[in-house]
Amino acid sequence: KNTIDQIAAGEVVERPASVVKELVENAIDSGATAVTVEIKGGGIDMIRVTDNGSGIEKSQIRKAFKRHATSKLKNIDDLFSIHSLGFRGEALSSISSVAQVDCITKTKDDLTGTRYSINGGEEAGMDEIGAPDGTTFIIRNLFYNTPARKKFLKTPQTEGSYIGDVMEHLALDNPTISFHYINNKDDKFSTSGNGDLKELIYRIYGRDVSVSVRPISASDHGITVEGYLGEPTLNRSNRNFEIFFVNGRYVKDKIISKALEEGYKQYLMMHKFPFAILHIRMDPSMVDVNVHPAKLEVRFNNQALLYDFIKTSVENVLSAQEM
Ligand code: ADP
Ligand code: MG
Repeated sequence: KNTIDQIAAGEVVERPASVVKELVENAIDSGATAVTVEIKGGGIDMIRVTDNGSGIEKSQIRKAFKRHATSKLKNIDDLFSIHSLGFRGEALSSISSVAQVDCITKTKDDLTGTRYSINGGEEAGMDEIGAPDGTTFIIRNLFYNTPARKKFLKTPQTEGSYIGDVMEHLALDNPTISFHYINNKDDKFSTSGNGDLKELIYRIYGRDVSVSVRPISASDHGITVEGYLGEPTLNRSNRNFEIFFVNGRYVKDKIISKALEEGYKQYLMMHKFPFAILHIRMDPSMVDVNVHPAKLEVRFNNQALLYDFIKTSVENVLSAQEM
Protein backbone atom coordinates (compact mmCIF):
# COMPACT_ATOMS: atom_id res chain seq x y z
CA LYS A 1 0.00 0.00 0.00
CA ASN A 2 2.77 2.42 0.91
CA THR A 3 4.74 1.43 -2.15
CA ILE A 4 1.75 2.03 -4.37
CA ASP A 5 1.28 5.43 -2.77
CA GLN A 6 4.95 6.26 -3.24
CA ILE A 7 4.78 5.30 -6.90
CA ALA A 8 1.53 7.20 -7.32
CA ALA A 9 3.23 10.10 -5.61
CA GLY A 10 5.61 10.30 -8.56
CA GLU A 11 2.67 11.29 -10.73
CA VAL A 12 1.41 14.03 -8.46
CA VAL A 13 4.45 15.10 -6.46
CA GLU A 14 7.39 15.62 -8.70
CA ARG A 15 8.98 18.39 -6.69
CA PRO A 16 8.22 20.90 -3.91
CA ALA A 17 6.40 23.17 -6.37
CA SER A 18 3.88 20.41 -7.12
CA VAL A 19 3.19 20.04 -3.40
CA VAL A 20 2.54 23.78 -3.13
CA LYS A 21 0.25 23.68 -6.14
CA GLU A 22 -1.82 20.80 -4.82
CA LEU A 23 -2.14 22.28 -1.33
CA VAL A 24 -3.09 25.72 -2.57
CA GLU A 25 -5.63 24.25 -4.98
CA ASN A 26 -7.15 22.36 -2.06
CA ALA A 27 -7.29 25.61 -0.11
CA ILE A 28 -9.07 27.29 -3.02
CA ASP A 29 -11.50 24.38 -3.32
CA SER A 30 -12.28 24.79 0.39
CA GLY A 31 -13.57 28.31 -0.19
CA ALA A 32 -10.64 30.16 1.33
CA THR A 33 -10.41 33.92 0.79
CA ALA A 34 -6.89 34.16 2.21
CA VAL A 35 -3.99 31.77 1.67
CA THR A 36 -0.50 32.11 3.13
CA VAL A 37 2.39 30.03 1.84
CA GLU A 38 5.75 29.94 3.55
CA ILE A 39 8.67 27.78 2.42
CA LYS A 40 12.14 27.01 3.74
CA GLY A 41 15.04 25.47 1.88
CA GLY A 42 13.31 25.59 -1.50
CA GLY A 43 10.32 23.79 -0.03
CA ILE A 44 12.42 20.67 0.55
CA ASP A 45 12.87 21.45 4.25
CA MET A 46 9.45 22.96 4.89
CA ILE A 47 6.27 24.07 3.19
CA ARG A 48 3.45 25.62 5.19
CA VAL A 49 0.10 26.46 3.62
CA THR A 50 -2.51 28.19 5.76
CA ASP A 51 -6.05 28.93 4.62
CA ASN A 52 -9.24 30.32 6.13
CA GLY A 53 -11.48 27.91 4.26
CA SER A 54 -13.98 25.30 5.37
CA GLY A 55 -11.63 23.15 7.44
CA ILE A 56 -11.93 19.37 7.50
CA GLU A 57 -14.41 17.66 9.80
CA LYS A 58 -12.77 15.54 12.48
CA SER A 59 -14.41 12.39 11.21
CA GLN A 60 -13.14 13.03 7.66
CA ILE A 61 -9.48 13.73 8.34
CA ARG A 62 -8.12 10.19 8.06
CA LYS A 63 -10.17 9.63 4.95
CA ALA A 64 -8.74 12.74 3.31
CA PHE A 65 -5.29 11.10 3.38
CA LYS A 66 -6.48 7.85 1.81
CA ARG A 67 -5.82 7.35 -1.85
CA HIS A 68 -8.84 8.02 -4.07
CA ALA A 69 -11.05 8.04 -0.99
CA THR A 70 -12.17 11.48 -1.97
CA SER A 71 -12.14 11.28 -5.73
CA LYS A 72 -14.93 13.36 -7.12
CA LEU A 73 -14.88 11.28 -10.30
CA LYS A 74 -17.90 9.01 -10.19
CA ASN A 75 -17.89 8.09 -13.86
CA ILE A 76 -15.99 8.84 -17.01
CA ASP A 77 -18.29 11.69 -18.03
CA ASP A 78 -17.20 13.58 -14.94
CA LEU A 79 -13.80 13.98 -16.58
CA PHE A 80 -15.38 16.49 -18.92
CA SER A 81 -17.56 18.39 -16.52
CA ILE A 82 -15.52 18.70 -13.33
CA HIS A 83 -15.24 22.31 -12.24
CA SER A 84 -13.32 22.17 -8.99
CA LEU A 85 -9.55 21.99 -9.18
CA GLY A 86 -8.97 18.79 -7.24
CA PHE A 87 -10.67 15.69 -8.51
CA ARG A 88 -8.29 12.79 -8.25
CA GLY A 89 -8.28 12.38 -4.52
CA GLU A 90 -4.62 11.45 -4.40
CA ALA A 91 -2.66 14.58 -3.53
CA LEU A 92 -2.75 14.21 0.25
CA SER A 93 -2.10 10.47 0.18
CA SER A 94 0.79 10.97 -2.22
CA ILE A 95 2.36 13.86 -0.33
CA SER A 96 2.05 12.14 3.03
CA SER A 97 3.69 8.99 1.67
CA VAL A 98 6.91 10.88 0.84
CA ALA A 99 7.15 13.50 3.62
CA GLN A 100 6.38 14.31 7.24
CA VAL A 101 3.02 16.03 7.39
CA ASP A 102 1.09 17.92 10.04
CA CYS A 103 -2.44 19.01 9.31
CA ILE A 104 -4.12 21.43 11.69
CA THR A 105 -7.73 22.04 10.87
CA LYS A 106 -10.98 23.34 12.30
CA THR A 107 -14.44 23.82 10.85
CA LYS A 108 -16.71 26.69 11.88
CA ASP A 109 -19.05 24.28 13.66
CA ASP A 110 -16.38 22.62 15.78
CA LEU A 111 -15.26 24.24 19.00
CA THR A 112 -11.77 22.80 18.89
CA GLY A 113 -9.40 21.94 16.12
CA THR A 114 -7.47 18.79 15.32
CA ARG A 115 -3.84 18.17 14.63
CA TYR A 116 -3.22 15.11 12.51
CA SER A 117 0.34 13.90 11.87
CA ILE A 118 1.36 11.40 9.25
CA ASN A 119 4.93 10.51 8.30
CA GLY A 120 5.79 8.43 5.27
CA GLY A 121 2.21 7.22 5.11
CA GLU A 122 2.18 6.13 8.78
CA GLU A 123 -0.19 7.90 11.12
CA ALA A 124 1.81 9.57 13.89
CA GLY A 125 -0.82 11.35 15.94
CA MET A 126 -4.32 12.79 16.16
CA ASP A 127 -4.80 15.42 18.86
CA GLU A 128 -7.35 17.99 19.84
CA ILE A 129 -5.90 21.51 19.83
CA GLY A 130 -6.97 25.10 19.70
CA ALA A 131 -6.95 26.44 16.14
CA PRO A 132 -8.56 29.15 14.03
CA ASP A 133 -11.16 28.21 11.40
CA GLY A 134 -9.47 26.79 8.34
CA THR A 135 -6.58 24.50 7.61
CA THR A 136 -2.81 24.56 7.88
CA PHE A 137 -0.61 21.97 6.24
CA ILE A 138 3.03 21.70 7.24
CA ILE A 139 5.14 19.48 5.01
CA ARG A 140 8.65 18.69 6.22
CA ASN A 141 11.58 16.84 4.67
CA LEU A 142 10.07 16.06 1.29
CA PHE A 143 11.31 12.73 -0.14
CA TYR A 144 13.15 11.90 3.11
CA ASN A 145 12.19 8.26 2.62
CA THR A 146 12.72 8.10 -1.15
CA PRO A 147 16.36 9.13 -1.59
CA ALA A 148 16.38 8.21 -5.28
CA ARG A 149 13.71 10.81 -5.89
CA LYS A 150 15.37 13.37 -3.67
CA LYS A 151 18.49 13.10 -5.82
CA PHE A 152 16.57 14.45 -8.80
CA LEU A 153 15.75 17.70 -7.08
CA LYS A 154 17.69 20.79 -8.05
CA THR A 155 19.24 23.24 -5.59
CA PRO A 156 16.97 24.75 -2.94
CA GLN A 157 17.30 28.04 -4.74
CA THR A 158 16.05 26.60 -8.02
CA GLU A 159 13.26 24.62 -6.39
CA GLY A 160 12.27 27.82 -4.56
CA SER A 161 12.10 29.69 -7.85
CA TYR A 162 9.74 27.03 -9.25
CA ILE A 163 7.53 27.57 -6.23
CA GLY A 164 7.65 31.31 -6.88
CA ASP A 165 6.38 30.68 -10.43
CA VAL A 166 3.56 28.47 -9.16
CA MET A 167 2.57 31.07 -6.56
CA GLU A 168 2.52 33.86 -9.14
CA HIS A 169 0.29 31.83 -11.43
CA LEU A 170 -2.07 30.84 -8.64
CA ALA A 171 -2.34 34.44 -7.45
CA LEU A 172 -2.93 35.72 -10.97
CA ASP A 173 -5.63 33.19 -11.57
CA ASN A 174 -7.46 33.96 -8.34
CA PRO A 175 -7.81 37.74 -8.16
CA THR A 176 -10.44 37.51 -5.41
CA ILE A 177 -8.22 35.52 -3.04
CA SER A 178 -5.61 37.27 -0.96
CA PHE A 179 -2.26 35.49 -1.22
CA HIS A 180 0.83 35.98 0.86
CA TYR A 181 4.03 34.24 -0.18
CA ILE A 182 7.15 34.05 1.98
CA ASN A 183 10.40 32.34 0.97
CA ASN A 184 12.95 31.91 3.80
CA LYS A 185 11.52 34.86 5.76
CA ASP A 186 11.64 37.00 2.61
CA ASP A 187 8.22 38.50 1.82
CA LYS A 188 7.90 37.83 -1.88
CA PHE A 189 4.46 39.26 -2.54
CA SER A 190 1.03 39.71 -1.12
CA THR A 191 -2.12 40.36 -3.06
CA SER A 192 -5.25 42.13 -1.90
CA GLY A 193 -7.91 39.79 -3.21
CA ASN A 194 -9.95 42.78 -4.37
CA GLY A 195 -10.41 41.31 -7.85
CA ASP A 196 -8.48 43.94 -9.77
CA LEU A 197 -6.30 42.04 -12.25
CA LYS A 198 -4.24 45.04 -13.23
CA GLU A 199 -3.39 45.80 -9.61
CA LEU A 200 -2.45 42.13 -9.24
CA ILE A 201 0.00 42.32 -12.12
CA TYR A 202 1.66 45.33 -10.54
CA ARG A 203 1.80 43.66 -7.13
CA ILE A 204 3.43 40.57 -8.56
CA TYR A 205 5.58 41.88 -11.38
CA GLY A 206 5.64 45.60 -10.76
CA ARG A 207 9.10 45.71 -9.33
CA ASP A 208 10.96 44.10 -12.21
CA VAL A 209 8.72 44.80 -15.15
CA SER A 210 7.38 48.31 -14.58
CA VAL A 211 4.50 46.87 -16.46
CA SER A 212 2.86 48.78 -19.22
CA VAL A 213 -0.16 46.77 -20.25
CA ARG A 214 -3.45 47.12 -22.05
CA PRO A 215 -6.54 45.01 -21.52
CA ILE A 216 -7.74 42.35 -23.90
CA SER A 217 -11.32 41.15 -23.83
CA ALA A 218 -12.95 39.25 -26.66
CA SER A 219 -15.47 36.53 -27.23
CA ASP A 220 -16.36 34.39 -30.22
CA HIS A 221 -17.46 30.84 -31.08
CA GLY A 222 -18.04 30.08 -27.41
CA ILE A 223 -14.49 31.06 -26.42
CA THR A 224 -13.65 34.12 -24.36
CA VAL A 225 -10.30 35.68 -23.61
CA GLU A 226 -9.68 38.24 -20.88
CA GLY A 227 -6.45 39.60 -19.53
CA TYR A 228 -3.63 42.00 -20.24
CA LEU A 229 -1.14 42.37 -23.05
CA GLY A 230 2.18 44.05 -22.48
CA GLU A 231 3.16 46.83 -24.83
CA PRO A 232 5.45 45.44 -27.53
CA THR A 233 8.24 47.54 -25.99
CA LEU A 234 7.90 45.27 -22.95
CA ASN A 235 10.07 42.72 -24.73
CA ARG A 236 10.88 39.58 -22.81
CA SER A 237 13.83 37.37 -23.68
CA ASN A 238 11.99 34.14 -22.91
CA ARG A 239 8.48 32.77 -22.70
CA ASN A 240 8.22 32.99 -18.90
CA PHE A 241 5.81 35.90 -19.18
CA GLU A 242 3.41 34.17 -21.55
CA ILE A 243 0.95 33.15 -18.89
CA PHE A 244 -2.20 31.29 -19.84
CA PHE A 245 -5.14 29.97 -17.88
CA VAL A 246 -7.73 27.73 -19.45
CA ASN A 247 -10.94 27.43 -17.45
CA GLY A 248 -9.07 28.39 -14.31
CA ARG A 249 -6.02 26.21 -14.75
CA TYR A 250 -2.56 27.47 -15.48
CA VAL A 251 -1.40 25.71 -18.63
CA LYS A 252 1.58 25.68 -20.92
CA ASP A 253 0.35 25.42 -24.48
CA LYS A 254 2.16 25.73 -27.79
CA ILE A 255 -0.96 26.60 -29.76
CA ILE A 256 -1.79 29.56 -27.55
CA SER A 257 1.86 30.67 -27.50
CA LYS A 258 2.07 30.54 -31.29
CA ALA A 259 -1.19 32.41 -31.70
CA LEU A 260 -0.06 35.10 -29.24
CA GLU A 261 3.33 35.50 -30.89
CA GLU A 262 1.74 35.65 -34.35
CA GLY A 263 -0.54 38.39 -33.07
CA TYR A 264 2.52 40.37 -31.94
CA LYS A 265 4.54 39.49 -35.00
CA GLN A 266 4.83 42.88 -36.67
CA TYR A 267 5.66 44.68 -33.43
CA LEU A 268 8.08 42.42 -31.65
CA MET A 269 11.85 42.37 -32.05
CA MET A 270 13.51 39.19 -33.29
CA HIS A 271 13.95 36.48 -30.65
CA LYS A 272 11.85 38.41 -28.19
CA PHE A 273 8.58 37.37 -26.59
CA PRO A 274 5.51 39.19 -25.38
CA PHE A 275 4.32 39.77 -21.85
CA ALA A 276 0.76 38.47 -21.70
CA ILE A 277 -1.66 37.15 -19.16
CA LEU A 278 -4.62 35.46 -20.81
CA HIS A 279 -7.61 33.92 -19.13
CA ILE A 280 -9.29 31.74 -21.71
CA ARG A 281 -12.67 30.22 -21.06
CA MET A 282 -14.70 27.77 -23.06
CA ASP A 283 -17.23 25.06 -22.49
CA PRO A 284 -15.55 22.19 -20.59
CA SER A 285 -16.58 19.84 -23.38
CA MET A 286 -14.28 21.75 -25.76
CA VAL A 287 -11.14 20.92 -23.81
CA ASP A 288 -9.61 17.88 -22.15
CA VAL A 289 -7.81 18.98 -19.01
CA ASN A 290 -6.87 15.48 -18.04
CA VAL A 291 -4.02 14.93 -20.48
CA HIS A 292 -1.34 14.94 -17.80
CA PRO A 293 -1.71 14.44 -14.05
CA ALA A 294 0.36 17.53 -13.32
CA LYS A 295 -2.38 19.32 -15.24
CA LEU A 296 -0.14 21.78 -17.06
CA GLU A 297 -1.19 20.43 -20.44
CA VAL A 298 -4.59 20.49 -22.06
CA ARG A 299 -5.91 19.29 -25.39
CA PHE A 300 -8.36 21.32 -27.42
CA ASN A 301 -11.00 19.78 -29.63
CA ASN A 302 -10.65 22.52 -32.22
CA GLN A 303 -7.13 23.88 -32.21
CA ALA A 304 -7.49 25.87 -35.42
CA LEU A 305 -10.49 27.76 -34.08
CA LEU A 306 -8.67 28.63 -30.84
CA TYR A 307 -5.53 29.66 -32.71
CA ASP A 308 -7.37 32.04 -35.03
CA PHE A 309 -9.42 33.50 -32.21
CA ILE A 310 -6.40 34.29 -30.02
CA LYS A 311 -4.28 35.62 -32.86
CA THR A 312 -7.05 37.88 -34.15
CA SER A 313 -7.98 39.12 -30.68
CA VAL A 314 -4.34 40.03 -29.96
CA GLU A 315 -3.96 41.78 -33.32
CA ASN A 316 -7.11 43.79 -32.68
CA VAL A 317 -5.85 45.06 -29.34
CA LEU A 318 -2.39 45.93 -30.63
CA SER A 319 -3.61 47.72 -33.75
CA ALA A 320 -6.35 49.64 -31.93
CA GLN A 321 -4.11 52.58 -31.03
CA GLU A 322 -0.85 54.04 -32.14
CA MET A 323 2.07 52.20 -30.57
P1 ADP B 1 -8.86 16.04 -4.00
O1 ADP B 1 -8.51 17.47 -3.85
O2 ADP B 1 -8.61 15.53 -5.37
O3 ADP B 1 -10.23 15.69 -3.47
P2 ADP B 1 -6.75 15.69 -2.12
O4 ADP B 1 -5.93 14.50 -1.74
O5 ADP B 1 -6.05 16.86 -2.67
O6 ADP B 1 -7.84 15.19 -3.11
O7 ADP B 1 -7.59 16.15 -0.88
C1 ADP B 1 -8.42 15.21 -0.22
C2 ADP B 1 -9.58 15.86 0.49
O8 ADP B 1 -9.13 16.50 1.67
C3 ADP B 1 -10.31 16.94 -0.29
O9 ADP B 1 -11.28 16.38 -1.14
C4 ADP B 1 -10.93 17.77 0.82
O10 ADP B 1 -12.14 17.17 1.24
C5 ADP B 1 -9.94 17.64 1.95
N1 ADP B 1 -9.04 18.80 2.00
C6 ADP B 1 -7.75 18.85 1.58
N2 ADP B 1 -7.21 20.07 1.77
C7 ADP B 1 -8.19 20.81 2.35
C8 ADP B 1 -8.27 22.19 2.81
N3 ADP B 1 -7.21 23.01 2.72
N4 ADP B 1 -9.43 22.60 3.35
C9 ADP B 1 -10.48 21.76 3.46
N5 ADP B 1 -10.48 20.47 3.05
C10 ADP B 1 -9.35 20.01 2.50
MG1 MG C 1 -6.61 18.20 -4.21
